[in-house]
Amino acid sequence: MSCGNHHNLPCTEVLHAIVLYIDHEIEDNESVHAIELHIQECPPCAARTAQEAILNQQLKALLNRSCREEASEQLRRNVGAMIRQPQFEWHQSITYTEITTDTFIHTHVEIHERFGSDDDQR
Ligand SMILES: [Zn+2]
Repeated sequence: MSCGNHHNLPCTEVLHAIVLYIDHEIEDNESVHAIELHIQECPPCAARTAQEAILNQQLKALLNRSCREEASEQLRRNVGAMIRQPQFEWHQSITYTEITTDTFIHTHVEIHERFGSDDDQR
């Protein structure tokens, strides 16, 4: 990946340092400046840096979200409140049929379950 122009800092070195650069982990100001200068001059490296920055941000957001326990606790409470809403109830009917002949006993069990509002019964 190169734009064909000559740079003081080769593209490969910039690309190697991109992640460190995005995380502000390069302490050497001269190196940071060289990378910034290169990015300004070199569109492919600029594009790559922008792409890495977005990926880096998304990864951090994802890690933050999965580490936040209260979020899932809140979600569970919301779901629980939704299920306990009074206008919804659980309807269950079981039909149990047993047919006995000389040769076999046939047992047939039907369980009908319905989760709905009382309006369904009208
Ligand atoms: Zn470059």
